[in-house]
Amino acid sequence: MSRRSLHNPAPDAATLRARLDRARAAAADAATDALLIGPGSDLRYLIGQAGGSFERLSVLLVPATDTAPVLVLPALEAPGYVDVPTDELGIDVVTWVDGEDPYRIVGDRLGKPGRVAVSDTMAALHVLRLRDAVEGAEQTLAGPVLRTLRMCKDAAELAALRRAAEAIDRVHARMGEWLRPGRTEAEVGADITEAIVAEGHTHADFVIVGSGPNGASPHHDVSDRVIQPGDVVVVDIGGPIPEGYNSDSTRTYAIGEPPSKIAEEYAVLQRAQEAAVQAVRPGATAHDVDAAARDLLTEAGLGELFIHRTGHGIGLDVHEEPYIMSGNDLPLQPGMAFSVEPGVYRAGEWGARIEDIVVVTADGVEPLNRRPHELVVLPA
Ligand code: ZN
Ligand code: ZN
Ligand code: ZN
Repeated sequence: MSRRSLHNPAPDAATLRARLDRARAAAADAATDALLIGPGSDLRYLIGQAGGSFERLSVLLVPATDTAPVLVLPALEAPGYVDVPTDELGIDVVTWVDGEDPYRIVGDRLGKPGRVAVSDTMAALHVLRLRDAVEGAEQTLAGPVLRTLRMCKDAAELAALRRAAEAIDRVHARMGEWLRPGRTEAEVGADITEAIVAEGHTHADFVIVGSGPNGASPHHDVSDRVIQPGDVVVVDIGGPIPEGYNSDSTRTYAIGEPPSKIAEEYAVLQRAQEAAVQAVRPGATAHDVDAAARDLLTEAGLGELFIHRTGHGIGLDVHEEPYIMSGNDLPLQPGMAFSVEPGVYRAGEWGARIEDIVVVTADGVEPLNRRPHELVVLPA
């Protein structure tokens, strides 16, 4: 069944209708006859319900013309979509039962299209059967068609991202309650997970507690390593609030005063993160923001320790477009939301990262995370 929470505030019908209209127009611009959107964040963006992805086909067919969109659902999944205002959205709902061929239903509705775009996360088992059912049509990805819509957030989406950021800031503010020598990363992580929910998220999507050498692995999870006096600890945490929008923020903590070499390198990282945030404005490119952090680290001899891109877009997905990386010449536009999260990673020793979500405004940048950026020294 779908993972619908009791309280799942969806955008109103007028907002969803405008998104569907823009999706049609974007499909037409991409010379695509129809979008085939399976369960996931694209579906939630378009109709306010993400659904769930299983072996039975659930798909929203959005034609590029003004023919009605069609929501094809297994009859047993239909109750999960009861809150979708299908009448106001002009969506035809077609249910099917086991024994019927849902791919034929889609094929019959589509006629003879030249090109259809399937959602990026649709399972291969559906993609290949749809290919057989819609003979002769080229299949492309819907992600590049929808990203123009999803990258620039509207006021309600930005308000949700702000609430998510405030919630995760409150969790970081409490870190001293949990992060102490003698406890394992997993124990600290369990407390953080509980607090993420207590502060307003539906669940914790990820909890990274990278202590000592584990901090040098950017996507570390938690382990049974016991926190030691003198450790530097990377804590990267986030999850969705009921509206579906995600938080994602990293702060780095020190258990006792760190040695001066670590403090000096951390200070460079802090300047690099600040420089990247200051580089965010309409018209600057994603590449420019990445370069602002990377150049500063490189000048200080730390460039080779920064082993990932500077950031990623965030919204209904934790990682989405735009990706803030070298070579991405995408010009930033007001309403784009993404992370700025440079790090330095000394393999086998320690690591540090500072991560804020920021929004491109009409003339600059609005950082959503407001916790101090300094290395936070906790009692050893
Ligand atoms: Zn990451
Ligand atoms: Zn993160
Ligand atoms: Zn991130």
